[in-house]
Amino acid sequence: MVLDQQFDLVVVGAGGAGLPAAVEAIENGLTKILIMEKRAQAGGNAAMAWGIFAAESPLQKEEMVEARRETLFKAIMDWSHWKTDPAILRAYIWKSGETIRWLEEKGLKFDLLRYFPGQEPAVWHVPEGHGARMMEVLSLYYQQAGGQLSLNTRCTQIVLDAGGGVKAITAEKDGQIFTVQTRNVIIASGGFGGNRAMLEKYCDGYDSQMHCLGLPHQGDGVAMGMEAGAATASLGSLLLEWPHVKGDSGSILVTVAREPYCIYINKKGQRFIDEVKGLHSFECANGVMRQPQKAGYIIADEGLIKRLEERGAVLGRGNDRAGRRRKIPGLKDQIKAIAAKNPENILITDSWEEIAAWSGASAPVLIKTLEDYNQDCERGCDQQFFKDPRYLAPLVKAPFYAIKGELVFLNTLGGLKINARMEVLDKTEKPIKGLYAAGADTGSWEPDTYFDRFSGTALGFAVNSGRIAGLAAAGALK
Ligand SMILES: Cc1cc2nc3c(=O)[nH]c(=O)nc-3n(C[C@H](O)[C@H](O)[C@H](O)COP(=O)(O)OP(=O)(O)OC[C@H]3O[C@@H](n4cnc5c(N)ncnc54)[C@H](O)[C@@H]3O)c2cc1C
Repeated sequence: MVLDQQFDLVVVGAGGAGLPAAVEAIENGLTKILIMEKRAQAGGNAAMAWGIFAAESPLQKEEMVEARRETLFKAIMDWSHWKTDPAILRAYIWKSGETIRWLEEKGLKFDLLRYFPGQEPAVWHVPEGHGARMMEVLSLYYQQAGGQLSLNTRCTQIVLDAGGGVKAITAEKDGQIFTVQTRNVIIASGGFGGNRAMLEKYCDGYDSQMHCLGLPHQGDGVAMGMEAGAATASLGSLLLEWPHVKGDSGSILVTVAREPYCIYINKKGQRFIDEVKGLHSFECANGVMRQPQKAGYIIADEGLIKRLEERGAVLGRGNDRAGRRRKIPGLKDQIKAIAAKNPENILITDSWEEIAAWSGASAPVLIKTLEDYNQDCERGCDQQFFKDPRYLAPLVKAPFYAIKGELVFLNTLGGLKINARMEVLDKTEKPIKGLYAAGADTGSWEPDTYFDRFSGTALGFAVNSGRIAGLAAAGALK
């Protein structure tokens, strides 16, 4: 591949936003397109994702799911207290249903799943093979249509002409720096989840114990855009989640931790949230952020483990919502085996005092918390947080299980300021000619807490904003 040449469009990053952007541009008449991807393979964080949000998709219509765009638009605007840009959100939601058709046309098959029990309407479209398959299909389609993909290639700088429009982009591959001539660049490099300095500078409440679950993206796209004169929007949002558990590769402990029958305690030994929020791990993270050392522990008893073995989990296993309420035989033995290998993160004991010592809580406070909670369960009314009584079951049957929750973030959200055409705006709100951005490198489309009532909005925004940017770069956006 000859990189030192003129391209119609260069896309920075072959992930959830970059691949759809390039495919859309090629389908709309651009012929010389180059995606430069820093890693040795395409896919980005999108290849780890499961499902994508959509409203009024063909599948929703077929399954008689009422997911009206107007209703969903208003709900997200209200959730964000109208801090979200309505024009960007409208452009995204209005495209989302058609995007499912566009992906189906390329061979993907979707299931429409509910992320948590009772979720209405169902908006989470999970493709067979999940995000990984979606990225594979798009990458293949793009290359078969004549698009060029340069792997192991890190974009470094946008070069502007005298009028302030895009003229070229520089990149580095195999230690060589080169310049690609182009009048159109789409930045889609996935945020800065792996850049400690940027996290500390921009993300309120970030500290180094918060683990990034996604790829360690360095914020190259945001930095390049800012250097080219872009304004920023909602820079510093984190897609936070709690509870996760360190070293829990099979999601066995997380399955226990998100059962609403558990209780969550802080370092003082006190409850701090309605544990039904474990089903809404993005909001639950906000509760943990308020606790001393941002630490939270999950407490369960033998009764709860038995219930999981015999009746399955309320939420499902890991991300497998289709597996909701599937029995988990042998769970107790699996947990014991994990505890033997991972004693820092799980303790099994008959003694509340031991749990207090292990978690750093005061034993009398923890014991009082449990006594109060168990009494509330007997009465059928949680007097502290008014947890749904259907999930009130006293924790009385030894052994007891204490799990250390881990606060994680999937990736950063927020960055370059864009308009509804995904054009990057300068500090006077004027588009920088030829410069577009999509996905996690951009801001103003996602509320400060991830809106899981409509699951899949992060990947949904990546794919739809990518498509819109590709259309705009091809001059085909109506
Ligand atoms: C474990 C996990 C599960 C998730 N599950 C879901 C889910 O089910 N639903 C949902 O809505 N969201 C989910 N998300 C979030 C979602 O995956 C992201 O929001 C989405 O992938 C963002 O798309 P993007 O294109 O902005 O970034 P990415 O998909 O990460 O793509 C960015 C690409 O740019 C490349 N890149 C970076 N810097 C450069 C550079 N300088 N030059 C060239 N290339 C560069 C990267 O290597 C990467 O390939 C999940 C995230 C994680 C980590």
